[in-house]
Parts: sequence; C-alpha cells; structure tokens
Amino acid sequence: MSADAPDPHPVTGQLFASPVQPGTGWPGDPAVASTPVARSPAEVRRLAHQAQDVTDLQACVSVCRACPRLVEWRESVARSQRRAAFADQPYWGRPGPAFGDRSASVLMVGLAPAANGTNRTGRMFTGDSSGDFLYAALHRTGWASQAESTAAGDGQVLKDIRIVAAVRCAPPQNQPTAQERATCRPWLARDMQLSAPRLRAVLCLGGLAWDAVLAAARELQWEGVRPKPRFGHAREFTATTPDLRAIRVVGCYHVSPHNTYTGRLTTAMLDEVLLSLRE
Ligand code: SF4
Repeated sequence: MSADAPDPHPVTGQLFASPVQPGTGWPGDPAVASTPVARSPAEVRRLAHQAQDVTDLQACVSVCRACPRLVEWRESVARSQRRAAFADQPYWGRPGPAFGDRSASVLMVGLAPAANGTNRTGRMFTGDSSGDFLYAALHRTGWASQAESTAAGDGQVLKDIRIVAAVRCAPPQNQPTAQERATCRPWLARDMQLSAPRLRAVLCLGGLAWDAVLAAARELQWEGVRPKPRFGHAREFTATTPDLRAIRVVGCYHVSPHNTYTGRLTTAMLDEVLLSLRE
C-alpha cells in the first residue's frame, strides 16, 4: 500500500484508490461523479433541503466536505493511517451514507463512524466490534439477513430498518465538536422528514444520538420534545409530526466496546429493545 496506489476491495476485488472517488463502482456507493458537494454549513442546509428522497439525500451526504477537521481526518486515515490488519485494503474515506431499507418504518441513529470501521468499509457499523455486536443482535431479532456485516457487497440486507448517524464522518478520538454536530444535523433532520410518512420509531444509540434526534425533531416542529425528554436505556416517548403522525423515540445504550465489554449493555438488553420496535 502507498498513499495513492489502488488496493483490491475485499469482496469484489476491484481496485480502488483511497479515499474512494464517487461513482467508481464501490458496492452501495450512492453518489456519482456529478453529485453536488456541500463545502459549508449553508450548503449542507441547502442540499439537504433540496433532496427529494432518501436516496438523493444519501448521495449528497456521502460526498460532503463541510467540516474541514473531519475531512482531513477521514482522508488521512484512509491514505496513510490505516490499521495494520487492513493496510492492503482500500478505505472508503468519505461520510457514511445510510444503510438499510429505504422504506423502513424504523430509523436507527448512531453517533459517528469509526475510523477503521465505516470509514474503511463505507457501511454503517461495519468492520468493527461495535458493529459485530449490533448486527448479531439485528439478525437474532429478525431485522438483518445475516449475523455479520463485514464489508459493503457482502450480501447483508436490513428489513424495515435503516441506520444513519448523528455525524457522518469519523471524528478524531470519536469526538465530534459541537459545531460539527450542528453542521451535520440538517442531513439527519431531512432524513427524518423524508422518512416520517412511513416511520413508526426512531432508535437512538447513546445520549449524543438522542440529543441529535431531539434537536432535529425540534427543527422539524415535532411535538413532544419540549421539555427535553431524558435519555436512558429503553426509555421512550412519543413525538408527533406536524401532520399528526405519532413516532416513538426510543433510547438504547450505545454498542460501544466500553458499554458491551463492561456489561452496561448486554445482548439481552439490546435484543429486548430491538424486539420492542416490532410492537
Ligand atoms: S460530519 Fe456531516 S456535515 Fe461534516 S463533513 Fe461529514 S457529512 Fe459533512
């Protein structure tokens, strides 16, 4: 591997430079070369507002460059700071687009991609221990076709659920700044708005995802979010959209190694929350 030398995709074998250019054949890449690129918070707001459907929206998300610190980090990891175990794989190196059913009735919201997970594979929660824990649970509870999600193009299919994140680019130390969270929020808000006609529930993995969903819901003028409901595992409340659709907002501890290794979040706890979404 050198900075600009292409490497073979782990599933298809196609050669890609890192970061991956839009529309060059990466499995599940929602963008093409002409997809408009947001380079400022104002452009994020404008392009999110203009997106006609979630497919359109994900294309724009996946090429966004509005947060200079995060663009620098995601691309430098992709080019020259890859984990040794993946040194001869191409790295996606772009924002993580949504993954799952476009017509889902449940939206799952995580915090942000991991540098060697989604930032490598281009798929939400794919390629790290958090994702291993999550996809096994999604499979046990009937939401996912496979117990493992290892790479884009591996055949994994989600049924009636779609995964997004509060912040779409991998942040250093997994910590986006308040400004970066605010800059990325229009992507989430527009996703919630476009999904709302079919949505029954929003599942928030962790307190930061909870805060992002509530902030987006306030911007969309959903009722039930003031005063701010408190985050907790399996806590929930019902939000009401301006056209009077009732949507459950459910909290769940994040599937981070810190939570799963310490037993703060067990497989039984996660399964229970995922099964409750079917009710
Ligand atoms: S974090 Fe969000 S707004 Fe910032 S560059 Fe990534 S996709 Fe764009």
